[in-house]
Amino acid sequence: MDYLPLFFKLTQQNVLLVGGGNVALRKARLLCRAGTTVTVIAHHVCDELQDLLDENQGSSIVGEYHPALLDGKVLVIAATDDNALNQRIHFDATERNIPINVVDCPELCTFVFPAIVDRSPVIIGISSGGSAPVLARLLRARLETWIPKSYGKLASIASSFRDQVKQRFSSVNQRRVFWEDVLQGQIAEKIFSGRTEEATTLLQEKIEHADPEHQVGEVYLIGGGPGDPELLTFKALRLMQQADVVLYDALVSPAVLDLCRRDADLIFVGKKRDNHAVPQEGINDLLVKHAQKGKRVVRLKGGDPFIFGRGGEELETLKAHNIPFQVVPGITAASACSTYAGIPLTHRNYAQSVKFVTGQLKNRTSDLNFDELVHPNQTLVFYMGLHTLPQLSSKLIEHGKSGDTPAAIVSKGTSSDQKVLTGTLATLAKLQEKAQLEAPALIIVGEVVNLHENLSWFGEEVLAQNLTPVTAEK
Ligand code: SAH
Repeated sequence: MDYLPLFFKLTQQNVLLVGGGNVALRKARLLCRAGTTVTVIAHHVCDELQDLLDENQGSSIVGEYHPALLDGKVLVIAATDDNALNQRIHFDATERNIPINVVDCPELCTFVFPAIVDRSPVIIGISSGGSAPVLARLLRARLETWIPKSYGKLASIASSFRDQVKQRFSSVNQRRVFWEDVLQGQIAEKIFSGRTEEATTLLQEKIEHADPEHQVGEVYLIGGGPGDPELLTFKALRLMQQADVVLYDALVSPAVLDLCRRDADLIFVGKKRDNHAVPQEGINDLLVKHAQKGKRVVRLKGGDPFIFGRGGEELETLKAHNIPFQVVPGITAASACSTYAGIPLTHRNYAQSVKFVTGQLKNRTSDLNFDELVHPNQTLVFYMGLHTLPQLSSKLIEHGKSGDTPAAIVSKGTSSDQKVLTGTLATLAKLQEKAQLEAPALIIVGEVVNLHENLSWFGEEVLAQNLTPVTAEK
Protein backbone atom coordinates (compact mmCIF):
# COMPACT_ATOMS: atom_id res chain seq x y z
CA MET A 1 0.00 0.00 0.00
CA ASP A 2 1.73 3.17 -1.19
CA TYR A 3 -0.82 5.57 0.31
CA LEU A 4 -2.77 5.39 3.55
CA PRO A 5 -6.31 6.65 3.05
CA LEU A 6 -7.17 9.14 5.78
CA PHE A 7 -10.05 11.56 6.10
CA PHE A 8 -8.95 15.08 6.96
CA LYS A 9 -11.06 17.35 9.16
CA LEU A 10 -10.39 20.73 7.52
CA THR A 11 -13.23 22.88 8.82
CA GLN A 12 -11.89 26.42 9.27
CA GLN A 13 -8.35 25.26 8.62
CA ASN A 14 -6.15 27.43 6.41
CA VAL A 15 -5.18 26.03 3.05
CA LEU A 16 -3.03 27.66 0.38
CA LEU A 17 -4.07 27.21 -3.23
CA VAL A 18 -1.56 28.37 -5.84
CA GLY A 19 -3.20 29.16 -9.18
CA GLY A 20 -6.32 31.02 -10.26
CA GLY A 21 -7.64 29.12 -13.28
CA ASN A 22 -10.10 26.29 -13.88
CA VAL A 23 -8.04 23.57 -12.26
CA ALA A 24 -7.66 25.69 -9.13
CA LEU A 25 -11.40 26.35 -9.22
CA ARG A 26 -12.17 22.60 -9.14
CA LYS A 27 -9.93 22.09 -6.15
CA ALA A 28 -11.32 25.17 -4.42
CA ARG A 29 -14.86 23.82 -4.76
CA LEU A 30 -13.87 20.63 -2.99
CA LEU A 31 -12.01 22.51 -0.27
CA CYS A 32 -14.98 24.79 0.32
CA ARG A 33 -17.33 21.82 0.56
CA ALA A 34 -15.15 20.60 3.42
CA GLY A 35 -15.43 23.99 5.15
CA THR A 36 -11.83 25.00 4.55
CA THR A 37 -10.59 28.60 4.63
CA VAL A 38 -8.86 28.97 1.28
CA THR A 39 -6.21 31.52 0.36
CA VAL A 40 -5.52 31.74 -3.36
CA ILE A 41 -2.30 33.20 -4.72
CA ALA A 42 -2.14 33.82 -8.49
CA HIS A 43 -1.32 36.41 -11.11
CA HIS A 44 -4.89 36.22 -12.23
CA VAL A 45 -7.94 34.86 -10.37
CA CYS A 46 -10.90 33.88 -12.55
CA ASP A 47 -14.28 35.39 -11.66
CA GLU A 48 -15.89 32.13 -10.70
CA LEU A 49 -13.11 31.32 -8.28
CA GLN A 50 -13.29 34.80 -6.79
CA ASP A 51 -17.06 34.45 -6.26
CA LEU A 52 -16.56 31.08 -4.57
CA LEU A 53 -13.95 32.55 -2.24
CA ASP A 54 -16.22 35.47 -1.41
CA GLU A 55 -19.06 33.13 -0.53
CA ASN A 56 -16.90 30.91 1.65
CA GLN A 57 -14.78 33.30 3.70
CA GLY A 58 -11.81 32.71 1.44
CA SER A 59 -9.36 35.30 0.14
CA SER A 60 -7.16 35.91 -2.85
CA ILE A 61 -3.86 37.63 -3.37
CA VAL A 62 -2.88 38.74 -6.84
CA GLY A 63 0.87 38.44 -7.18
CA GLU A 64 3.90 36.20 -6.99
CA TYR A 65 4.06 33.07 -4.84
CA HIS A 66 6.56 33.26 -1.97
CA PRO A 67 7.33 30.77 0.82
CA ALA A 68 6.08 33.02 3.64
CA LEU A 69 2.55 32.30 2.35
CA LEU A 70 2.93 28.80 3.78
CA ASP A 71 2.99 30.10 7.34
CA GLY A 72 0.00 28.77 9.29
CA LYS A 73 -1.25 26.56 6.42
CA VAL A 74 -2.18 22.92 7.01
CA LEU A 75 -2.21 21.95 3.33
CA VAL A 76 -0.97 23.40 0.08
CA ILE A 77 -2.19 22.73 -3.42
CA ALA A 78 -0.30 23.83 -6.51
CA ALA A 79 -2.57 24.17 -9.52
CA THR A 80 -0.24 25.93 -11.95
CA ASP A 81 1.27 24.82 -15.25
CA ASP A 82 4.66 26.31 -14.37
CA ASN A 83 6.89 23.30 -13.65
CA ALA A 84 9.67 25.26 -12.00
CA LEU A 85 7.18 26.98 -9.72
CA ASN A 86 5.55 23.64 -8.81
CA GLN A 87 8.98 22.26 -7.91
CA ARG A 88 9.67 25.25 -5.68
CA ILE A 89 6.35 24.98 -3.89
CA HIS A 90 6.95 21.26 -3.40
CA PHE A 91 10.37 21.97 -1.94
CA ASP A 92 9.13 24.71 0.41
CA ALA A 93 6.16 22.65 1.63
CA THR A 94 8.05 19.44 2.27
CA GLU A 95 10.76 21.40 4.10
CA ARG A 96 8.04 22.65 6.46
CA ASN A 97 6.29 19.23 6.65
CA ILE A 98 3.16 20.64 5.08
CA PRO A 99 1.32 18.08 2.95
CA ILE A 100 1.36 19.12 -0.70
CA ASN A 101 -0.55 18.19 -3.81
CA VAL A 102 0.68 19.31 -7.21
CA VAL A 103 -2.16 18.72 -9.64
CA ASP A 104 -1.42 16.04 -12.26
CA CYS A 105 2.10 15.51 -10.99
CA PRO A 106 2.12 12.51 -8.62
CA GLU A 107 5.89 12.61 -8.07
CA LEU A 108 5.58 16.05 -6.45
CA CYS A 109 2.66 15.07 -4.21
CA THR A 110 2.76 13.93 -0.61
CA PHE A 111 -0.99 13.34 -0.73
CA VAL A 112 -3.42 12.70 -3.57
CA PHE A 113 -7.06 13.61 -4.10
CA PRO A 114 -9.22 10.51 -4.42
CA ALA A 115 -12.25 10.20 -6.66
CA ILE A 116 -15.10 10.86 -4.24
CA VAL A 117 -18.52 9.35 -3.75
CA ASP A 118 -20.29 11.76 -1.43
CA ARG A 119 -23.15 10.45 0.65
CA SER A 120 -22.30 12.74 3.55
CA PRO A 121 -21.73 11.90 6.28
CA VAL A 122 -20.65 8.77 4.41
CA ILE A 123 -17.75 9.50 2.10
CA ILE A 124 -15.91 7.06 -0.14
CA GLY A 125 -12.53 7.95 -1.55
CA ILE A 126 -11.01 5.90 -4.37
CA SER A 127 -7.42 6.26 -5.37
CA SER A 128 -5.04 4.64 -7.80
CA GLY A 129 -2.18 6.53 -6.18
CA GLY A 130 -2.05 8.83 -9.18
CA SER A 131 -1.18 5.97 -11.54
CA ALA A 132 -4.58 5.45 -13.22
CA PRO A 133 -6.98 8.26 -12.29
CA VAL A 134 -9.38 7.23 -15.08
CA LEU A 135 -9.78 3.80 -13.52
CA ALA A 136 -10.51 5.40 -10.15
CA ARG A 137 -13.16 7.57 -11.81
CA LEU A 138 -14.73 4.56 -13.56
CA LEU A 139 -14.95 2.78 -10.24
CA ARG A 140 -16.49 5.87 -8.74
CA ALA A 141 -19.15 5.90 -11.45
CA ARG A 142 -20.02 2.31 -10.63
CA LEU A 143 -20.33 3.03 -6.93
CA GLU A 144 -22.45 6.09 -7.62
CA THR A 145 -25.05 3.92 -9.32
CA TRP A 146 -24.82 1.13 -6.78
CA ILE A 147 -25.05 3.00 -3.48
CA PRO A 148 -28.52 4.38 -2.79
CA LYS A 149 -28.59 8.18 -2.65
CA SER A 150 -30.32 7.97 0.72
CA TYR A 151 -27.32 6.32 2.35
CA GLY A 152 -26.47 9.73 3.73
CA LYS A 153 -29.92 9.95 5.31
CA LEU A 154 -29.45 6.52 6.84
CA ALA A 155 -26.13 7.59 8.32
CA SER A 156 -27.60 10.85 9.71
CA ILE A 157 -30.44 9.00 11.43
CA ALA A 158 -28.01 6.46 12.84
CA SER A 159 -25.88 9.33 14.09
CA SER A 160 -28.82 10.99 15.88
CA PHE A 161 -29.47 7.76 17.82
CA ARG A 162 -25.85 7.04 18.57
CA ASP A 163 -25.79 8.30 22.17
CA GLN A 164 -29.00 6.50 23.07
CA VAL A 165 -27.65 3.23 21.70
CA LYS A 166 -24.38 3.76 23.53
CA GLN A 167 -26.24 4.10 26.83
CA ARG A 168 -28.41 1.09 26.15
CA PHE A 169 -25.65 -1.32 25.04
CA SER A 170 -22.47 -1.24 27.04
CA SER A 171 -20.17 -3.38 24.91
CA VAL A 172 -18.77 -2.48 21.53
CA ASN A 173 -19.75 -5.88 20.18
CA GLN A 174 -23.38 -5.52 21.25
CA ARG A 175 -23.51 -2.13 19.60
CA ARG A 176 -21.98 -3.43 16.39
CA VAL A 177 -24.46 -6.29 16.16
CA PHE A 178 -27.31 -3.85 16.86
CA TRP A 179 -26.22 -1.41 14.18
CA GLU A 180 -25.52 -4.08 11.59
CA ASP A 181 -29.04 -5.28 12.11
CA VAL A 182 -30.47 -1.77 11.75
CA LEU A 183 -28.36 -0.76 8.78
CA GLN A 184 -29.07 -3.87 6.74
CA GLY A 185 -32.57 -4.74 7.78
CA GLN A 186 -36.10 -3.46 7.66
CA ILE A 187 -35.23 -0.04 9.10
CA ALA A 188 -32.71 0.70 6.36
CA GLU A 189 -35.14 -0.46 3.69
CA LYS A 190 -37.76 1.98 4.99
CA ILE A 191 -35.32 4.87 4.80
CA PHE A 192 -34.35 3.93 1.25
CA SER A 193 -37.99 4.02 0.24
CA GLY A 194 -38.49 7.44 1.84
CA ARG A 195 -40.50 6.30 4.90
CA THR A 196 -38.21 8.09 7.33
CA GLU A 197 -40.77 8.61 10.08
CA GLU A 198 -41.73 4.96 10.22
CA ALA A 199 -38.06 4.03 10.26
CA THR A 200 -37.36 6.39 13.16
CA THR A 201 -40.26 4.96 15.20
CA LEU A 202 -39.07 1.41 14.54
CA LEU A 203 -35.55 2.30 15.54
CA GLN A 204 -36.75 3.88 18.79
CA GLU A 205 -38.77 0.76 19.59
CA LYS A 206 -35.85 -1.47 18.81
CA ILE A 207 -33.61 0.43 21.21
CA GLU A 208 -36.20 0.27 23.99
CA HIS A 209 -37.03 -3.39 23.64
CA ALA A 210 -33.71 -5.01 22.85
CA ASP A 211 -32.21 -7.00 25.70
CA PRO A 212 -28.48 -6.32 25.55
CA GLU A 213 -27.57 -9.19 27.88
CA HIS A 214 -29.39 -11.77 25.86
CA GLN A 215 -28.67 -10.96 22.29
CA VAL A 216 -28.28 -14.27 20.57
CA GLY A 217 -26.00 -14.25 17.61
CA GLU A 218 -26.60 -16.07 14.41
CA VAL A 219 -24.87 -18.81 12.45
CA TYR A 220 -24.42 -18.66 8.71
CA LEU A 221 -23.66 -22.04 7.22
CA ILE A 222 -21.99 -21.09 3.97
CA GLY A 223 -20.86 -23.08 0.99
CA GLY A 224 -17.49 -21.69 -0.05
CA GLY A 225 -17.52 -23.47 -3.41
CA PRO A 226 -14.61 -25.39 -4.91
CA GLY A 227 -11.90 -22.80 -4.30
CA ASP A 228 -12.07 -19.98 -6.84
CA PRO A 229 -13.52 -16.97 -4.95
CA GLU A 230 -15.29 -15.83 -8.12
CA LEU A 231 -17.51 -18.86 -7.77
CA LEU A 232 -18.93 -17.63 -4.44
CA THR A 233 -22.48 -16.33 -4.31
CA PHE A 234 -23.19 -12.65 -3.55
CA LYS A 235 -24.99 -13.72 -0.41
CA ALA A 236 -22.05 -15.81 0.80
CA LEU A 237 -19.78 -12.82 0.34
CA ARG A 238 -22.14 -10.41 2.12
CA LEU A 239 -22.50 -12.67 5.16
CA MET A 240 -18.79 -13.49 5.24
CA GLN A 241 -18.18 -9.76 5.48
CA GLN A 242 -20.28 -9.62 8.65
CA ALA A 243 -18.56 -12.44 10.50
CA ASP A 244 -17.19 -12.11 14.04
CA VAL A 245 -15.97 -15.68 14.03
CA VAL A 246 -15.27 -18.01 11.12
CA LEU A 247 -15.00 -21.77 11.55
CA TYR A 248 -13.54 -23.22 8.38
CA ASP A 249 -12.57 -26.56 6.88
CA ALA A 250 -9.46 -27.78 5.11
CA LEU A 251 -11.21 -27.57 1.74
CA VAL A 252 -11.84 -23.81 2.02
CA SER A 253 -9.28 -22.07 -0.17
CA PRO A 254 -7.12 -19.25 1.27
CA ALA A 255 -8.49 -16.91 -1.41
CA VAL A 256 -12.04 -17.52 -0.21
CA LEU A 257 -11.07 -17.20 3.44
CA ASP A 258 -9.43 -13.90 2.64
CA LEU A 259 -12.81 -12.42 1.82
CA CYS A 260 -14.10 -12.76 5.39
CA ARG A 261 -14.31 -9.64 7.53
CA ARG A 262 -10.78 -8.48 8.38
CA ASP A 263 -11.35 -8.46 12.15
CA ALA A 264 -13.05 -11.86 12.32
CA ASP A 265 -11.47 -14.64 14.41
CA LEU A 266 -10.56 -17.44 12.04
CA ILE A 267 -10.70 -20.92 13.56
CA PHE A 268 -9.52 -23.94 11.61
CA VAL A 269 -11.64 -26.99 12.38
CA GLY A 270 -10.62 -28.95 9.32
CA LYS A 271 -10.69 -32.64 8.95
CA LYS A 272 -7.99 -34.50 7.17
CA ARG A 273 -8.82 -38.07 6.17
CA ASP A 274 -9.07 -40.26 9.30
CA ASN A 275 -7.65 -37.42 11.34
CA HIS A 276 -10.23 -35.06 12.76
CA ALA A 277 -8.56 -31.82 13.89
CA VAL A 278 -11.69 -30.99 15.90
CA PRO A 279 -14.27 -33.75 16.32
CA GLN A 280 -17.73 -33.06 14.96
CA GLU A 281 -19.23 -32.61 18.44
CA GLY A 282 -16.47 -30.10 19.20
CA ILE A 283 -17.43 -28.08 16.12
CA ASN A 284 -21.11 -28.16 17.08
CA ASP A 285 -20.22 -26.93 20.58
CA LEU A 286 -18.03 -24.13 19.23
CA LEU A 287 -20.85 -22.92 16.99
CA VAL A 288 -23.28 -22.85 19.92
CA LYS A 289 -20.80 -21.24 22.29
CA HIS A 290 -19.94 -18.34 19.99
CA ALA A 291 -23.53 -17.73 18.92
CA GLN A 292 -24.67 -17.64 22.53
CA LYS A 293 -22.18 -14.84 23.13
CA GLY A 294 -24.08 -12.80 20.56
CA LYS A 295 -21.57 -13.34 17.77
CA ARG A 296 -22.19 -13.74 14.08
CA VAL A 297 -20.63 -17.05 13.30
CA VAL A 298 -19.77 -18.08 9.78
CA ARG A 299 -19.42 -21.81 9.31
CA LEU A 300 -17.55 -21.98 6.05
CA LYS A 301 -17.36 -25.25 4.17
CA GLY A 302 -15.90 -26.29 0.85
CA GLY A 303 -18.39 -26.82 -1.95
CA ASP A 304 -21.97 -27.04 -0.76
CA PRO A 305 -22.67 -27.49 2.95
CA PHE A 306 -25.49 -29.98 2.35
CA ILE A 307 -23.53 -32.30 0.08
CA PHE A 308 -21.20 -34.57 2.06
CA GLY A 309 -20.65 -31.61 4.33
CA ARG A 310 -22.33 -32.64 7.57
CA GLY A 311 -24.19 -29.35 7.40
CA GLY A 312 -27.39 -31.04 8.53
CA GLU A 313 -25.83 -32.34 11.73
CA GLU A 314 -24.56 -28.92 12.70
CA LEU A 315 -27.92 -27.30 12.11
CA GLU A 316 -29.69 -29.89 14.26
CA THR A 317 -27.52 -28.86 17.19
CA LEU A 318 -28.24 -25.17 16.57
CA LYS A 319 -31.96 -25.87 16.34
CA ALA A 320 -31.83 -27.71 19.67
CA HIS A 321 -30.29 -24.59 21.24
CA ASN A 322 -32.71 -22.16 19.58
CA ILE A 323 -29.96 -20.40 17.68
CA PRO A 324 -31.08 -18.73 14.46
CA PHE A 325 -29.23 -19.70 11.30
CA GLN A 326 -29.17 -19.19 7.57
CA VAL A 327 -27.77 -21.58 4.97
CA VAL A 328 -26.10 -20.42 1.78
CA PRO A 329 -25.60 -23.01 -0.94
CA GLY A 330 -22.26 -23.29 -2.66
CA ILE A 331 -21.10 -24.82 -5.91
CA THR A 332 -20.46 -28.45 -5.11
CA ALA A 333 -17.37 -30.28 -6.34
CA ALA A 334 -19.38 -32.43 -8.77
CA SER A 335 -20.72 -29.39 -10.50
CA ALA A 336 -17.49 -27.40 -10.40
CA CYS A 337 -15.12 -30.19 -11.44
CA SER A 338 -17.30 -31.53 -14.23
CA THR A 339 -17.81 -28.04 -15.61
CA TYR A 340 -14.13 -27.17 -15.50
CA ALA A 341 -13.19 -30.53 -17.01
CA GLY A 342 -15.65 -30.16 -19.89
CA ILE A 343 -17.68 -33.19 -18.80
CA PRO A 344 -21.42 -32.42 -18.78
CA LEU A 345 -22.97 -34.59 -16.05
CA THR A 346 -26.04 -35.27 -18.14
CA HIS A 347 -26.45 -35.42 -21.90
CA ARG A 348 -29.49 -36.38 -23.93
CA ASN A 349 -27.59 -39.15 -25.70
CA TYR A 350 -25.66 -40.62 -22.79
CA ALA A 351 -27.02 -39.93 -19.32
CA GLN A 352 -30.49 -39.05 -18.09
CA SER A 353 -29.56 -38.94 -14.43
CA VAL A 354 -26.59 -38.36 -12.19
CA LYS A 355 -25.77 -39.78 -8.77
CA PHE A 356 -23.50 -38.21 -6.16
CA VAL A 357 -21.97 -41.06 -4.19
CA THR A 358 -19.53 -41.21 -1.29
CA GLY A 359 -16.46 -43.24 -2.08
CA GLN A 360 -15.62 -43.73 1.57
CA LEU A 361 -16.14 -47.41 2.29
CA LYS A 362 -16.52 -48.38 5.91
CA ASN A 363 -13.90 -51.03 6.86
CA ARG A 364 -13.15 -51.51 3.18
CA THR A 365 -16.45 -53.36 2.71
CA SER A 366 -18.99 -51.17 1.08
CA ASP A 367 -22.48 -50.43 2.20
CA LEU A 368 -23.23 -48.92 -1.20
CA ASN A 369 -25.95 -50.44 -3.33
CA PHE A 370 -23.83 -51.42 -6.33
CA ASP A 371 -26.73 -53.13 -8.12
CA GLU A 372 -28.33 -49.72 -8.40
CA LEU A 373 -25.11 -47.94 -9.32
CA VAL A 374 -24.52 -50.06 -12.41
CA HIS A 375 -27.75 -48.99 -14.16
CA PRO A 376 -27.08 -47.69 -17.68
CA ASN A 377 -27.59 -44.09 -18.82
CA GLN A 378 -26.53 -42.52 -15.59
CA THR A 379 -23.43 -40.69 -14.49
CA LEU A 380 -21.78 -41.56 -11.19
CA VAL A 381 -19.78 -38.99 -9.29
CA PHE A 382 -17.71 -40.29 -6.40
CA TYR A 383 -16.64 -37.89 -3.66
CA MET A 384 -13.83 -38.96 -1.33
CA GLY A 385 -13.11 -41.90 -3.60
CA LEU A 386 -9.47 -41.45 -4.57
CA HIS A 387 -8.18 -43.96 -2.04
CA THR A 388 -10.87 -46.53 -2.71
CA LEU A 389 -10.78 -46.25 -6.49
CA PRO A 390 -9.47 -49.85 -7.04
CA GLN A 391 -12.25 -51.33 -4.88
CA LEU A 392 -14.93 -49.07 -6.35
CA SER A 393 -13.95 -50.01 -9.91
CA SER A 394 -13.82 -53.76 -9.30
CA LYS A 395 -17.12 -53.73 -7.38
CA LEU A 396 -18.85 -51.90 -10.21
CA ILE A 397 -17.44 -54.36 -12.77
CA GLU A 398 -18.35 -57.28 -10.50
CA HIS A 399 -21.94 -56.03 -10.40
CA GLY A 400 -22.20 -55.86 -14.18
CA LYS A 401 -20.87 -52.46 -15.26
CA SER A 402 -18.69 -52.79 -18.36
CA GLY A 403 -14.97 -52.41 -17.81
CA ASP A 404 -14.96 -50.19 -20.91
CA THR A 405 -17.13 -47.53 -19.25
CA PRO A 406 -15.26 -44.22 -19.54
CA ALA A 407 -14.05 -42.82 -16.21
CA ALA A 408 -12.08 -39.76 -15.10
CA ILE A 409 -10.35 -38.29 -12.11
CA VAL A 410 -10.50 -34.52 -11.66
CA SER A 411 -7.90 -33.38 -9.15
CA LYS A 412 -7.93 -29.93 -7.49
CA GLY A 413 -10.79 -28.89 -9.72
CA THR A 414 -11.14 -25.20 -10.72
CA SER A 415 -7.72 -24.33 -9.29
CA SER A 416 -4.69 -23.45 -11.39
CA ASP A 417 -3.38 -26.92 -10.44
CA GLN A 418 -6.38 -28.74 -11.87
CA LYS A 419 -5.49 -32.05 -13.51
CA VAL A 420 -7.71 -34.46 -15.40
CA LEU A 421 -6.91 -38.12 -16.00
CA THR A 422 -9.19 -40.19 -18.19
CA GLY A 423 -9.41 -43.94 -18.75
CA THR A 424 -11.97 -46.65 -18.28
CA LEU A 425 -13.38 -48.37 -15.26
CA ALA A 426 -10.90 -51.19 -15.90
CA THR A 427 -7.82 -48.97 -16.36
CA LEU A 428 -8.28 -45.83 -14.27
CA ALA A 429 -7.00 -47.19 -10.94
CA LYS A 430 -3.81 -48.48 -12.59
CA LEU A 431 -3.29 -45.19 -14.42
CA GLN A 432 -3.72 -43.30 -11.16
CA GLU A 433 -1.11 -45.51 -9.49
CA LYS A 434 1.34 -44.02 -11.96
CA ALA A 435 -0.08 -40.53 -12.26
CA GLN A 436 -0.50 -39.99 -8.51
CA LEU A 437 -2.99 -37.14 -8.87
CA GLU A 438 -3.52 -35.41 -5.56
CA ALA A 439 -6.53 -34.91 -3.33
CA PRO A 440 -9.04 -33.39 -3.32
CA ALA A 441 -10.15 -35.37 -6.29
CA LEU A 442 -13.43 -36.42 -7.78
CA ILE A 443 -14.17 -39.52 -9.85
CA ILE A 444 -16.66 -39.37 -12.68
CA VAL A 445 -17.91 -42.59 -14.28
CA GLY A 446 -20.13 -42.77 -17.37
CA GLU A 447 -20.33 -42.26 -21.12
CA VAL A 448 -20.32 -38.46 -20.65
CA VAL A 449 -16.60 -38.68 -19.80
CA ASN A 450 -15.96 -39.19 -23.54
CA LEU A 451 -17.14 -35.62 -24.16
CA HIS A 452 -14.10 -34.35 -22.28
CA GLU A 453 -11.81 -34.86 -25.28
CA ASN A 454 -13.81 -32.36 -27.31
CA LEU A 455 -15.07 -29.97 -24.62
CA SER A 456 -12.06 -29.67 -22.34
CA TRP A 457 -11.30 -25.97 -21.85
CA PHE A 458 -9.43 -25.53 -18.57
CA GLY A 459 -6.46 -26.99 -16.73
CA GLU A 460 -3.95 -29.68 -17.47
CA GLU A 461 -4.43 -32.99 -19.19
CA VAL A 462 -2.58 -36.02 -17.82
CA LEU A 463 -1.94 -38.23 -20.84
CA ALA A 464 -1.92 -41.98 -20.23
CA GLN A 465 0.92 -42.61 -22.70
CA ASN A 466 3.23 -40.23 -20.82
CA LEU A 467 2.82 -41.95 -17.49
CA THR A 468 5.77 -43.78 -16.04
CA PRO A 469 5.49 -46.07 -13.03
CA VAL A 470 6.20 -44.32 -9.70
CA THR A 471 8.47 -47.10 -8.51
CA ALA A 472 10.94 -48.07 -11.22
CA GLU A 473 10.63 -51.73 -12.14
CA LYS A 474 13.77 -53.80 -12.23
N1 SAH B 1 -19.21 -30.32 0.57
C1 SAH B 1 -18.23 -30.58 -0.43
C2 SAH B 1 -17.74 -32.01 -0.42
C3 SAH B 1 -17.00 -32.41 0.81
S1 SAH B 1 -16.43 -34.06 0.74
C4 SAH B 1 -18.81 -30.21 -1.80
O1 SAH B 1 -19.99 -29.97 -1.92
O2 SAH B 1 -18.03 -30.16 -2.77
C5 SAH B 1 -14.78 -33.84 0.16
C6 SAH B 1 -14.63 -34.38 -1.24
O3 SAH B 1 -15.10 -33.43 -2.18
C7 SAH B 1 -13.20 -34.62 -1.65
O4 SAH B 1 -12.73 -35.87 -1.19
C8 SAH B 1 -13.30 -34.59 -3.16
O5 SAH B 1 -13.82 -35.81 -3.64
C9 SAH B 1 -14.36 -33.54 -3.38
N2 SAH B 1 -13.79 -32.22 -3.69
C10 SAH B 1 -13.97 -31.09 -3.02
N3 SAH B 1 -13.35 -30.07 -3.62
C11 SAH B 1 -12.76 -30.56 -4.72
C12 SAH B 1 -11.97 -30.02 -5.77
N4 SAH B 1 -11.64 -28.72 -5.79
N5 SAH B 1 -11.53 -30.84 -6.75
C13 SAH B 1 -11.84 -32.15 -6.74
N6 SAH B 1 -12.59 -32.72 -5.78
C14 SAH B 1 -13.04 -31.95 -4.78
